[in-house]
Amino acid sequence: MNVLFVVSECAPLIKTGGLADVAGALPGALAHEGCPVRVLMPAYPGLESKLVDAKELLAFDDLFGGPARILGGQAAGLDLLLLDAPHLYDRVGLIYLGPDGNDWPDNAVRFASLSWAGARIGLGELTDGWRPDVVHAHDWQGGLTPVYLSHMPVRPPTVVTIHNIAYQGHAPAWQRDDLRLPIAGFTPQGFEFWGGINFLKAGLVYADAITTVSPTYAKELTSPEFGYGLEGVIAASVEKLRGILNGIDLDHWNPESDPAIANFSIRTIGKRAANRQALAEEFGTVAEGPLFGIVSRLTPQKGLNLLLNLLHDLLDREAGLVLLGSGDPDLEHAFSAAGTSHPGQVGVKIGYDEPLSHRIYAGSDVIVVPSRFEPCGLTQLYGLRYGALPLVARTGGLADTVIDANDAARKTGVATGFQFHPGSGRSLNEAINRACDCFADKKLWRQMQRNAMKHPVGWETSAASYRMLYESLTEAAP
Ligand code: ADP
Repeated sequence: MNVLFVVSECAPLIKTGGLADVAGALPGALAHEGCPVRVLMPAYPGLESKLVDAKELLAFDDLFGGPARILGGQAAGLDLLLLDAPHLYDRVGLIYLGPDGNDWPDNAVRFASLSWAGARIGLGELTDGWRPDVVHAHDWQGGLTPVYLSHMPVRPPTVVTIHNIAYQGHAPAWQRDDLRLPIAGFTPQGFEFWGGINFLKAGLVYADAITTVSPTYAKELTSPEFGYGLEGVIAASVEKLRGILNGIDLDHWNPESDPAIANFSIRTIGKRAANRQALAEEFGTVAEGPLFGIVSRLTPQKGLNLLLNLLHDLLDREAGLVLLGSGDPDLEHAFSAAGTSHPGQVGVKIGYDEPLSHRIYAGSDVIVVPSRFEPCGLTQLYGLRYGALPLVARTGGLADTVIDANDAARKTGVATGFQFHPGSGRSLNEAINRACDCFADKKLWRQMQRNAMKHPVGWETSAASYRMLYESLTEAAP
């Protein structure tokens, strides 16, 4: 079962969020299921030099305004196909944003090109003869692939995964021709959306199957609160939608061998204290109570303003807080100010720092994820794996992966963390208090850390679910 991923980022090569972690880790797990994956992604600056055994496998004279080619090779244990299109991707800035912090004005064309290349590979045009049995596109950046393939008399089945429905990819109607989209699809039943073009909607309508990254988010998506205007499309496609929980790469995220931390295991959990100590020193915090850690994009989605409002209550409990994040300038400013106002209690680093994120998972007592909505969330999974108990909003994948320390779970000894009602400051405060109370009970805390570290967070079960989905699609294909 050959699978083609069409995706805009892939760890460890380039990453802005959880999408990259999934694109980097799921192929390895799928290979164990008998589904080798080739990952198609843009050749952002510097990526080509990382390819081993690079070969040109396809050339385009004009890919949406310039020549382009597909280079195949290996990097970071992945079978990669890089879309080398200098007019689209060879530029200084972030992958979605220019130096001014705004979206690149031609993002629609940039990712239509990626989708177009994915469709061509789907049709078996690579010169090495490789042909995918299934094309699996991720998020809006791959959303047009199923549209481009839909008119082909013979084509592989398509899957679109929603990693976050808040990002949909829009273009004005006048760009339809330039984006090589058929006029017949420009209807409310197609890719038209309030008079424009919606990439993710296109993917949802034209794909043979839709997945999203947790069972709870799959249910939430049909409601206006979570569907971001696509709830009707989701509701109409519900029989082809399923929620498959994300996992994490257990080799890369392994407290026993992680080079970024003082190593420990579930049997030597006491050694974890060295990481807490080092983290507190790094951030200049001193806390008798639990050390709360956050690693996050700073966007309103993540609900961190709730925590800011409760900072005094948290510090009253002799807790400490360390945060690593970047994004929204207002949130960056608010957290920096909190760090300045509470030296010794609140430590803040604005920026993106992969090794530091590992040190936070290994050294914090609690990982806080107060999201308003969270399709799956990975940071709570890293917290579980590293014995930092997640304190999370009860939404999406957070609800599916953390067992709240309520009376019943504590009696049966299965609790792994704390949940609160999303959006409610009162409920968050109550969860913070419960976490502080549990922390004071060292025996209970140790038991919860062990439960957390034992909780299955790998890809095995989910990779098998994807395989079964692929099989059902290829069996159903004409
Ligand atoms: P999202 O995809 O919405 O950002 P996820 O929880 O699914 O949220 O994934 C976030 C990923 O990005 C995790 O791997 C997390 O460790 C990482 N991350 C987020 N912010 C930073 C940062 N500032 N520095 C390093 N890693 C970060």
